[in-house]
Amino acid sequence: MATDIVPELLEAIERDFNNAISKSKRLKSIRAMIENGTATYQQANEYAVEIGEILARTFEMHIKSDVLPDGKMYYNIAERILDPTLKNNHVIVAKVSAEIQEQLNKSVGLGLRGIEPPVNQLRIDSIINRVVAEEVFDDVAWILQEPIVNFTQTTVDDTIKANVEFQGESGLNPLIMRSAHGSPPCEWCRSMQGIYKYPDVPDDVYRRHDRCRCVVEYYPGDSEEIRRQNVWSKEWSG
Ligand SMILES: [Zn+2]
Repeated sequence: MATDIVPELLEAIERDFNNAISKSKRLKSIRAMIENGTATYQQANEYAVEIGEILARTFEMHIKSDVLPDGKMYYNIAERILDPTLKNNHVIVAKVSAEIQEQLNKSVGLGLRGIEPPVNQLRIDSIINRVVAEEVFDDVAWILQEPIVNFTQTTVDDTIKANVEFQGESGLNPLIMRSAHGSPPCEWCRSMQGIYKYPDVPDDVYRRHDRCRCVVEYYPGDSEEIRRQNVWSKEWSG
């Protein structure tokens, strides 16, 4: 390869991504809700969709066959562009989700901090492997669209899962509610609707297909249990 296109390409992507984020009214209004303590996981999910869509649009603007050597997405380009940008989406959304979780905990008198889930490296690797598999990047460009949004939403669902399991292992029985959205939502999504109580939470509750806009929400353990647990929950606060 004559010239390494990655440094300049990555810089342009990061610049436009950050610009779009700072201009987003949707993100701004969600941040205001977090600040005044009214945000729920519905807002976390909206935040993730917006962050995912912004990154997908930025990719669409900058990554095309005609800027890539031989029109192909080589592994060493994909890895150096997608790994940091997808990790960054995870970090942004994990922070917001954990913040909302902590507020939900507080709203019922639980002094538990919100836990941030680890990044799902397997999913990043699988996105990278899918875009490098084709000879012509434009044939797989769609992978850097909706699957990027889906990846970013996963951080929210992983945050719920991490906190539900942590609280469950601590003796609480948190509730998870999944509601179907979409026009109309698919049969699978409709079948997953409902309220689940820890530990009876199938893994599928946290799963979503591309373009799924279902909302998965967390409710702290039922009030009686919370009152009982609250006496000693202070051990974990901080
Ligand atoms: Zn769905």
